[in-house]
Amino acid sequence: MDNNQDIEQLCVDKGMRMTDQRRVIAQVLSGADDHPDVEEVYKRSTKVDPKISIATVYRTVRLFEEAGILERHDFRDGRSRYEPVSDDHHDHLINLETGEVVEFHNDEIEELQRKIAEKLGFKLVDHRMELYGTPIKSGKPKG
Ligand SMILES: [Zn+2]
Repeated sequence: MDNNQDIEQLCVDKGMRMTDQRRVIAQVLSGADDHPDVEEVYKRSTKVDPKISIATVYRTVRLFEEAGILERHDFRDGRSRYEPVSDDHHDHLINLETGEVVEFHNDEIEELQRKIAEKLGFKLVDHRMELYGTPIKSGKPKG
């Protein structure tokens, strides 16, 4: 979730050549827990180094993704969002009004998915689940 992986260290471990600009982008991504898109990563990176171009951010983010350091999400708003790959599995709920991404984990859902796969003759290896919602405005949430 937001355990702020040291992306820079992961890159070094994978033998990636780290330029100053890549280092800045890695630090921005390590410090983010809001699933930023490339535009947002670019905005934050240029606050540290104004010479970084959006093309560099695109290339670097893709490089990190291909190296298995970043996970890409497509939350149906046409923008790819990124977060560090993590051992802690979680799912996402997307607020359709604000685009905010809420992370959650639910043991019952995890178990249910395993059971469904098993019933169909499969051992569950991975899954992706996204919930899309709008905030309940008046009264208390049901449940
Ligand atoms: Zn997430």
